[in-house]
Amino acid sequence: KKLQVALCGLGRYANLVREGLAASQYCQLAGIVTGTPAKAAAWRTDHRIPEKNVYSYQNFDKILTNKAIDAVYITLPNALHKEFTLRAARAGKHVIVEKPMALTEQDCQEMIAACKKAGVQLAVGYRLHYEPHHQEIKRLGQEKLFGQVRLIESSLGYRLAGISPDDWHLKKALAGGGPLMNLGVYCVQSSRYVLGEEPVAVTAQFGPVTMPELFKEVEESISWQLTFPSGAVCTSTTTSTCNIDRFFASADNGSFELSPGLSYGPFQGKSSQGAFNFPVLNQQAAQLDGIAPYLLEDKPLPAHISGEEGRKDLRVLDAIYKAARSGEKVTLR
Ligand code: NAD
Repeated sequence: KKLQVALCGLGRYANLVREGLAASQYCQLAGIVTGTPAKAAAWRTDHRIPEKNVYSYQNFDKILTNKAIDAVYITLPNALHKEFTLRAARAGKHVIVEKPMALTEQDCQEMIAACKKAGVQLAVGYRLHYEPHHQEIKRLGQEKLFGQVRLIESSLGYRLAGISPDDWHLKKALAGGGPLMNLGVYCVQSSRYVLGEEPVAVTAQFGPVTMPELFKEVEESISWQLTFPSGAVCTSTTTSTCNIDRFFASADNGSFELSPGLSYGPFQGKSSQGAFNFPVLNQQAAQLDGIAPYLLEDKPLPAHISGEEGRKDLRVLDAIYKAARSGEKVTLR
């Protein structure tokens, strides 16, 4: 049996997830949730989705009685992740929610509690956990194959061009913030999983606003520095001003890096022992096939792909914003 997935919010990323679903071994696109009737018609035809598996945002809760759907994959704007996770959980469906998991750590806690109470599992759509370059840097860092990592530089940004000032990514209420919510979460993630530690102190600074017509509500750029219990430091920038996509780690006896390294790839990487040589894979299919067997067999998801992982990132993102706003160092216990 394949995991029968309903995709909720049929925008840009949902189009990549549907390709991932088509390429996956253990998942099938079984239903859709959309506010746009024309999209519903097109997706139904493309994927032979029966009418009974098509929902609007209003009647979504009726999915409770639909035995043909096992899980809901939420690709809505960030602010709606919480509402639809709570509703999916109440309907008894497993949830895969896109990053960032929610707008705050507090919201993540409520989502985790709601899924636990409903007896469903909650996964976060962290595609890089299944990507071989990232599995390698995690191994090199956590197993200390070049000794203790002392310094990480991890940055991701795209020059934002041709975006409407009305796009939800620029609205605080829907996005929660700017590139930190959208892209910076990958920088935080990579530093956490390469070190296998949680940061204890955060400093951060907002960058200049070069496109004031767009960045009225959310940051255009932000830089931050995380200190970890081992003494390792990670410095990062995420930005909508220019393109950057790289990860670099310096350890006692060597270094390793990816550039490009945090986007959709294809990635290039090397360590002080030579170039990496890993296959390019469909990141969304790999992620779906990493999650689905746990849901199908009703086994608990490993912590690093569960809602707990999303919560830990939001805890750091909350602290980064707090540090940037206050200009003070924020300590995390
Ligand atoms: P998008 O704007 O292209 O799609 C959002 C969808 O939500 C649209 O279909 C829109 O119609 C619908 N929607 C429903 N209610 C809405 C409302 N009130 N306002 C605006 N849209 C509404 O966005 P996207 O780029 O597909 O991002 C969706 C989610 O996926 C975000 O949480 C984003 O962070 C995440 N994402 C993840 C990755 C990844 O690599 N894992 C990449 C891109 C986006």
